[in-house]
This record gives sequence, C-alpha cells and structure tokens, in this order.
Amino acid sequence: MQPLIIIGAGLAGYTVAREFRKLDKTAAMVIITADDGDFYSKPMLSNAFAQSKSAQQLVTQSAAKMAEQLGASIVTGTRVTRIDTAENTVVTTTGTYHYGRLVLAMGAQPIRLAFDGDAADAVLAVNHVSDYAAFRARIAQVEPRGPARVAILGAGLIGCEFADDLAGAGHAVTLIDPNAAPLSALAAPTLSRGLEAALKARGVSMRFGTTAARIDRRDDALQVTLASGASFDTDVVLSAVGLRPDLDVANGSGLTTRRGIVVDATGQTSAPGVYALGDCAEYTFDADGTTRTLPYIAPLMTAARAIARTLAGQPTAIDLKAAPVIVKTPSYPLALLPPPPHAAANGNWHAADDGARTVCRFYDEQDVLVGFGVAPHEANVRTELLSALGTKRG
Ligand code: FAD
Repeated sequence: MQPLIIIGAGLAGYTVAREFRKLDKTAAMVIITADDGDFYSKPMLSNAFAQSKSAQQLVTQSAAKMAEQLGASIVTGTRVTRIDTAENTVVTTTGTYHYGRLVLAMGAQPIRLAFDGDAADAVLAVNHVSDYAAFRARIAQVEPRGPARVAILGAGLIGCEFADDLAGAGHAVTLIDPNAAPLSALAAPTLSRGLEAALKARGVSMRFGTTAARIDRRDDALQVTLASGASFDTDVVLSAVGLRPDLDVANGSGLTTRRGIVVDATGQTSAPGVYALGDCAEYTFDADGTTRTLPYIAPLMTAARAIARTLAGQPTAIDLKAAPVIVKTPSYPLALLPPPPHAAANGNWHAADDGARTVCRFYDEQDVLVGFGVAPHEANVRTELLSALGTKRG
C-alpha cells in the first residue's frame, strides 16, 4: 500500500495531516515540503513586532516534533517539480515518491510588482516565518539609529495589519495604495475611513490614490518615487499587494486550474485521488457551482476536516460556511464578511453607529443581507450578524 503524500507543511498541510491521523492511526503518511517544516501560525506574522517576538519564538514545533506527533515522515528542503497522475508519482528535487492518495497544500506566493530604479530588488514580502526573520533582521540593522522608516505597498488586510503592528512597535510607517482608503476591496467605506483615522492616530502616514513607481538606493537608505511624482526616503520597503498560487506544478501535471487548483465539493482536483486545499486551492460552491480562492484560516480548517474524512473512507463535502475575516488591527479591530462578488455590484452598504461600535450591513438588490462589517467586533455581535445573513431588511 503506497502512502498518503501531502505536499506542503503550512497550516493546510499540517491540519489535514492531523485530522487524518485522528481517523486513521496506522496508514503511512509522508509530508514533502520545500521549507524546513517547522510549525508556526502564519497569522502571527503580522502581529509579532509590537510583541517583540522573534521568528524563533513564533515556531512552536520543530519538523522533527511534528513528525513524531503525526506519525509521519517529513521530507524537508525538497521541492516537488512534477506530478504524474497516471503513475501516481511525485517527482522532487531529491527523488521520486509513489503515492496512494495525494494532497496538494502548496500555498501561494507574494505577487512581485515590477519597479523602475536600482533598488527594486530590495523590496521585501512576508509570507513565511523565514521572511519575517529577514524583515526583522533588516529593521534591526537600522534600529540603532532610531525607529525604522517602513514603506508598505498595499493597504489590504496584510498591509494594514503590518502598518498597525509596526507603528505600535514605534516605527515610522508610510502606507501606499492606489485606492482612496484602506481595505477598499473588503470593507464598507465607513469602516475603511474608521480604520484610516485609527491608523493616522497611531502615526501612520498615508499615500493613497497612487502607487510606487521607482525604488532607488540613496546612501544607506532607499528612495521611493510615487507615480504622482512625490518621493520620500525610507529604510525598508515591504510589499503586501497580494498572493497568487504558483500553478506551474499543477499545470505541468494536467490538473484543472484557474486562479488556483480547482477542486470539487469534496476537495478533489480534476485527477482522481488528488486533493487540494489552502491558499493553492480554488473551491467550488456546490449551490451555484461558482469557484473561488479563499486564502484564510477558517475555510482551510473546514476543508482539512472534510478531506481527512474522505481520505479515511467517508466521502464528505466541504461545508464552506460564511466566516468573517478578523482584521488584526488593534487600533481598530474589524470583522468583515464582504458580499459575494456577484452581489457586490448591485447592492448597497448601510452603516449604523451606536457610539460603542459601527455596524455596516450590505443588502443585495432584493434587500437581502449578504455581507457585513463591524468595528470593534465581539463574538456575540459576529454571531448575531451571521445568523441574520439571508434575511430581508426589516
Ligand atoms: P502556506 O503556509 O504558504 O504553506 C505552503 C507550503 O507548501 C509551505 O510549506 C511551502 O514550503 C510548501 N510548498 C510550496 N510549493 C512547494 C513545492 N513545489 N514543493 C514542496 N513544497 C512546496 N488568514 C486568516 O484567516 N486570518 C488572519 O488573521 C490571517 N493573517 C495573515 C497574516 C499574514 C502575514 C499572512 C501572510 C497571511 C494571513 N492569513 C490570515 C492567511 C493564512 O495565514 C493563510 O491562508 C494560510 O496560512 C495558508 O496556509 P497554506 O498551508 O495553504 O499555505
């Protein structure tokens, strides 16, 4: 009997391994990963500066400990280059492995924008604990001179979290985004403005409605020139403009892909016995057959539990319930459930502020509640809003 092979040792790979092991104590399991296989919680990366946490402190289990706990063999520092779904093999940089069933949990990679200038290669991105280590090391180099100046490209979820975290740690942050306000793609305008005001009060400078065009070296600092023509000096440039799955392996193996690796309601790819989840997957919504990537923890956990059951012999559909995204900006903590893309164009946000919190509800063209946002958020308010989803405006 060939082993279950899982490619990737992020939260998706390790969660499906853990869930599968709860159901099957003996089946052989191999985890192959390009990184060192150490376990860490990725959401901590954008909340760790203010707590002065080093990369090492974010790692909670070594790969060896994970292997022992999971009863798995973990092959680290090994990149999968091809999957042969006819022969049931994965070809890697260190050899070829046969699988019985295969799970792809290969994540996504930071989008790299092209810039003019001689320091375009100095732009950092943080999508792994090792990136966080490199980012901290860069900041530590300049810290003896005082707080670091950090320019963040992108005021989405990750950019705003880093802005709040770094400002909270005393650094001088400039947030740059082509939109007019932070979190424009996810939040109601009222909440975007609320977050903008909170970040400003924290000392974050905003350069909105423009993008970085050039990045040049200037003595021992960097100079960012914006498309608007203005320029300023900074010590570090952090890119947070989004992630995109690297689909080379999936495409080279003949799997169906769109933005991610397309999976059906049970998490199975177009190849029988091959599953995908996490940031690399594009999930199918059974109700209407639409597909979407969902690069968040809640869907990854739900998918891991369902795929583990299917692998253990109980075919199970992934129940992708609506789950709000928690934005970890302590200055203005938000919970957001954006309306689904097909409803977003034909509905409206309605904001209500009772002095204690702002609640924004999105009603579609039939006046049905299909999205919301709340700041500051609490579990009971989120639960109330979730249970009202699908109901008509009173
Ligand atoms: P990854 O963690 O990227 O793991 C991919 C794994 O695949 C890695 O081990 C990699 O080495 C391996 N791999 C890739 N290619 C290959 C190959 N060819 N061969 C072998 N191995 C390969 N979500 C939330 O819901 N809430 C949050 O608060 C939140 N905060 C976040 C903060 C930050 C800074 C970031 C970057 C993300 C955040 N997210 C948050 C998103 C969430 O963390 C991710 O959706 C999730 O961690 C993705 O896990 P993954 O296992 O799919 O991918």
